[in-house]
Amino acid sequence: MGNYFENNDKTLCCGCRGCELICPTSAISMIEDNEGFMYPFVDEDKCIHCGMCVKVCPIKDGGYTNDLVSSEPVIYGAYNKEKTVLEESTSGGAFTGIIDSFFEDHILVCGAIFDDDFFVKHLLTDDINLFSKFRGSKYVQSDLNNSYSEIRKSLRKGSKVLFSGTPCQVAGLKAFLGKEYDNLLCVDIVCHGVPSPKIFSMYKEYLQDKYKSKLANINFRDKSIKGWDTPYMTIEFENGNKLKSIGYDDPYSMGFYKKLFQRPVCHSCPFSKVPRVSDITLADYWGVENTNPEFKNNRGTSLMLMNTKKAQMLYDKLCKNLVLGNAILADAIKYNPQLAKATDPNPKRPEFMVDVKSGYNFKKLEKKYFKRRSFLKRFLSIILNKETKIMIKKIFKV
Ligand SMILES: Cc1cc2nc3c(=O)[nH]c(=O)nc-3n(C[C@H](O)[C@H](O)[C@H](O)COP(=O)(O)OP(=O)(O)OC[C@H]3O[C@@H](n4cnc5c(N)ncnc54)[C@H](O)[C@@H]3O)c2cc1C
Repeated sequence: MGNYFENNDKTLCCGCRGCELICPTSAISMIEDNEGFMYPFVDEDKCIHCGMCVKVCPIKDGGYTNDLVSSEPVIYGAYNKEKTVLEESTSGGAFTGIIDSFFEDHILVCGAIFDDDFFVKHLLTDDINLFSKFRGSKYVQSDLNNSYSEIRKSLRKGSKVLFSGTPCQVAGLKAFLGKEYDNLLCVDIVCHGVPSPKIFSMYKEYLQDKYKSKLANINFRDKSIKGWDTPYMTIEFENGNKLKSIGYDDPYSMGFYKKLFQRPVCHSCPFSKVPRVSDITLADYWGVENTNPEFKNNRGTSLMLMNTKKAQMLYDKLCKNLVLGNAILADAIKYNPQLAKATDPNPKRPEFMVDVKSGYNFKKLEKKYFKRRSFLKRFLSIILNKETKIMIKKIFKV
């Protein structure tokens, strides 16, 4: 309970920038802390104590709630009919399916992209040639810049806007707008915490030094090697070098999956629950092989929660681009706990951050925290498929 401005408690700020943008005297600026996350800083000389910053905070007092969402969403498993879209998307390409269902309309889409230097930021655009940049999860906190203000301008002009982001980013937008717009559709992703952009930058520098070349492409969940179940992290360099490792064997991904450098608020996220905060929620449809085996697509299957009437009315349009099958909430939560529960922090997180603050570079962090699995483990995880791994784990009760 409470809010960030009372005593700068970092578990009460998601860095959405709503407070910075709403401030009538521009008294708030966002400053990066030594973990690499942005927090608002109030210039007391400019502050007129109007309270707008607290009013728009989505985290204050237990978190923004959206009265339009239903506690019993309609749920589907989904995968995109277009092979290339499915391959380039993280799960089933549901997000592109949603964009494409507005094909006849002129829409603006806002979502997370990599810029030319692989910084992750939100982009608002109506350029269909840029829509493919939204595809793929970027496992770094995305900088919203001034997206909320730009979206408000467009909505007021009557443009249709599709906004996507983490649940806190959607809640931040809703709180910033302060009213419902019929021409806005919000999509959130199930999220187990956003990693520090600073750690990602340290990793990029480390790679560029080690391989003596600039980065050319990063794919956190490359399915082209062994499909959706065994995602590879692939990194390409301008000099033609290419690194590929099963997600868990890449040091940055390992830190992300182990939750060593997520934003503090993520571990008490008020939006990891059903009812969700947005019209549509997307996730990986983990466990589909057990709950809905005939629906599993090894190139990826998304889980879609249609939380509002606005979303549920899109069914016919979505069917043009997506193959949809019914799913059940309890099954979804069983295999994807972050749908309904905030992610636990790694007990080593405080020590990790002390090392970051004391000046460890990425190589030193790798040595201490990201030890590669043994050769045998890596070899087995490459040659065995997911079903066999699960069977072995059951037999040996691992
Ligand atoms: C940090 C993070 C943690 C996640 N944790 C989980 C999890 O625990 N369980 C789970 O089932 N799914 C998780 N996801 C979501 C999942 O990886 C897929 O994004 C989701 O299944 C949608 O896939 P898709 O194939 O429909 O679309 P894709 O085309 O793959 O998804 C792209 C969408 O994700 C958005 N996006 C990408 N990166 C970011 C970012 N950094 N910040 C905000 N939005 C972003 C884009 O704007 C776009 O809307 C996570 C995603 C992120 C970014």
